[in-house]
Amino acid sequence: MKYTYQKGFKWLFIYFLLALLPLIIAVLGKIPEYRSFAVEAGAALGFIGLGMLGLQFLFSGRIRWVAPSYGMDNILQYHRETGILSFLFVMAHPLTLIVVEPDFLAYFNPAENLPRAMALIFVSVALIVLTASSLWRLTFGLSYEMWRLVHGVLSLSVIFIGVVHSLQVSHYLNALWQQLAIVIIMGAYGYLVIHTRIIRPWRISKKPYVVEEVIAERDDCWTLKLQPLGHPGMRYKAGQFAWITLGDTPFSMQQHPFSLASAAHDSTILLTAQNSGDFTSTWKDVKPGSRAFLEGPFGSFYPEAGKNLFMVMGGIGITPAMSMLRTLRKENDSRQAVLVYANPDWEAITFREELEELNKEINLKLVHVLEEAPEGWQGETGRIDLDLLKRHMPENSEDYAFYLCGPKPMQDAAELALRDLGVDWRWLYSERFQII
Ligand SMILES: Cc1cc2nc3c(=O)[nH]c(=O)nc-3n(C[C@H](O)[C@H](O)[C@H](O)COP(=O)(O)OP(=O)(O)OC[C@H]3O[C@@H](n4cnc5c(N)ncnc54)[C@H](O)[C@@H]3O)c2cc1C
Repeated sequence: MKYTYQKGFKWLFIYFLLALLPLIIAVLGKIPEYRSFAVEAGAALGFIGLGMLGLQFLFSGRIRWVAPSYGMDNILQYHRETGILSFLFVMAHPLTLIVVEPDFLAYFNPAENLPRAMALIFVSVALIVLTASSLWRLTFGLSYEMWRLVHGVLSLSVIFIGVVHSLQVSHYLNALWQQLAIVIIMGAYGYLVIHTRIIRPWRISKKPYVVEEVIAERDDCWTLKLQPLGHPGMRYKAGQFAWITLGDTPFSMQQHPFSLASAAHDSTILLTAQNSGDFTSTWKDVKPGSRAFLEGPFGSFYPEAGKNLFMVMGGIGITPAMSMLRTLRKENDSRQAVLVYANPDWEAITFREELEELNKEINLKLVHVLEEAPEGWQGETGRIDLDLLKRHMPENSEDYAFYLCGPKPMQDAAELALRDLGVDWRWLYSERFQII
């Protein structure tokens, strides 16, 4: 059981403590003369908003010691929701102050102090852009890479201006130790971005991979077979994922997450992508012999020791399941695995032939679900729902851990259905490919 209430409460406690840290630092110094409750509350909102914004860097998904406690998609969902909350806190800071004390509007008046006004107007606009572009990226027609670049640059700018603003106002942060503490804490959050974008790529540049083969799979999917070049490769668990960069350098905005579809710890790495956009459409043309860089492994979507596996997968969401099944085969593991695999039709079943082989080689119950079935098809048809899952639910379901990966509607429906069938959420793991 990777997810527990204890872990949840621990992380919530850490979150609240860190979010409140700037406020705690502010009130630990010499308390200035009391203004009014509304004004002090308005000031407090600013400190809390700053703390929450800084924390966004911690939960943005690449910190390996944060992710295993909750799962990557939960953390990114959390990042998204706390991002909206921190936006509301930060925006409530000037709004509260201006409403109760209109003199505070002077902070936005270029005639009073041009750089200050420009910086604060910039932060307000940047926060709106950050939030709107994250919620409606596709509506705005922003490519993922462009969104990521804008998101990173604006977030860092907002934090930087927020810190400078709190130091300049210095109403609460009037002692040197307080100012240093704020700079160090917020600097540490900013460093996380530098670590992700510069230090880690530099490290992985020393561990390149070479593309040995590009394999065409069913349903316009392509597998890259990678060999480590001059190093032993990566240690990973079945179902984990890595970020891949194709080309001669890992310093690139084109870094994408893919499940490691090979068996756990295999030094030969298999990644399979469906041709679905700018990056994945290049896979079929990747030249054998070219370079790739992998950052990872990440994720907590891996089999529980001693538990049987019940997997509900759809389309290309099969890749982490392939890793789990290939690992069972490699390790002669006789655990029971149930795979409910949804696809549009018989021809679209990626890895269809290998799944048939695995069906004979390991203790696997394979259930294909086709939206459009060929004539004479005896198996499941339609969409995955409660009734379908109930039909294939093993009697000893408490001996199973449950794994979900597939298109969002399928995943949402299956998650709810499994919960309705009495599956404990702590044994239910879901990997979402569509982050934003
Ligand atoms: C943990 C995880 C494992 C994944 N494993 C697989 C896999 O095994 N096979 C597979 O085909 N796909 C997998 N994906 C999805 C894959 O990362 C995206 O489909 C891919 O990045 C699409 O890029 P594109 O430029 O081709 O398409 P685009 O049209 O640019 O993007 C399509 C969607 O992919 C997502 N995406 C794009 N770029 C990134 C990025 N750099 N980081 C995160 N998400 C991005 C966005 O949600 C976007 O809306 C996985 C995603 C995650 C999060």
